[in-house]
Amino acid sequence: MAHEDSIAALLSLLHARESFVVTSHARPDGDAIGSALGLMHLLDGMGKRVTVAFADPIPVIYRCLPGIERIQVALPVATPAPDAAILLECDGFERTGFERADFDRMGAGLTINIDHHLSGKTFASFNWIDPEACAVGAMIYDLAVASGTEITADMATCLYTAVLTDTGSFTYPSTVAATFALAEHLVKRGADANRIAQAVYFSNPPSKIRLLGAALGNMQIEGSVSWSWITQEEMARAGAEVEDCEGVVNYLIGIAGVDAAVFLRELPSRKEFRLSLRSKGEVDVAQVAERFGGGGHRNASGCTLDGPLDEAIERIVAELRPDRRQPVH
Ligand code: 5GP
Repeated sequence: MAHEDSIAALLSLLHARESFVVTSHARPDGDAIGSALGLMHLLDGMGKRVTVAFADPIPVIYRCLPGIERIQVALPVATPAPDAAILLECDGFERTGFERADFDRMGAGLTINIDHHLSGKTFASFNWIDPEACAVGAMIYDLAVASGTEITADMATCLYTAVLTDTGSFTYPSTVAATFALAEHLVKRGADANRIAQAVYFSNPPSKIRLLGAALGNMQIEGSVSWSWITQEEMARAGAEVEDCEGVVNYLIGIAGVDAAVFLRELPSRKEFRLSLRSKGEVDVAQVAERFGGGGHRNASGCTLDGPLDEAIERIVAELRPDRRQPVH
């Protein structure tokens, strides 16, 4: 379906319903939170009832976003059931961190999937997947414009945060002229670019920097591939939370001559590792993550691997070596 047709179809679904639950993926990042809150403000403006729910806590750097206090950590089960559940940036119900059964229990009649991943899947009753969009926040902006609803400063702030973070501060290949035009529109509607950058990039807890030190101490480089990891023990020593691991992988991919990088975080079970993959240019880490049941974008993806650590590293590094990469068509 063409972009405009998807928006028109989605708007008619929204207009025909009164109450919504909005959620996004587990361990929410700036696009998950910013686009969910942006959509919440849009639905408010359309006169709808809306609940926003996440399965995991909101990282501290996003806690001053307008409307953040309305986020709850469980799907509502109250009656009457919401008319629709909207899932942002997810490739399935489980990616939310909630169970499929939680959605069934909630009893929403309709499920709506809005995603911008290349690996996006049509798992819901209505699916709008636009891999060209730099962030789901950009898709929500297009929806808001098409709806004719006023784009308030609160909505603009949330959507700007989504775009800023999901473009890697306007550095990823998804950043094109239209991305800057979008940023300009959002700033003109009240997003304070400096204040948002201060919150997102200059408000880290000391634990995050201690964890970064430990992770960079583990860094390895072999040819054009770099990797690093953090164990539960190292996290505890740094006094770090899961959210403190965000962005570590960007230091690895920032090394000259490195074009594929992976950061492994040991999970509390100590049996599995969460992987954050990054690449430069044509190197496609979405395909690599998909081979292990994960997904994402060409230059940024994630998945989970079984331990122990040395075996997980061996498996993922083998896939990242230049001789194992898939040809680009
Ligand atoms: P991060 O490394 O920042 O956690 O994730 C990078 C990108 O990959 C994000 O766009 C994120 O949504 C996506 N991603 C990470 N893990 C998974 C996963 O397990 N499944 C899918 N489908 N996408 C993932």
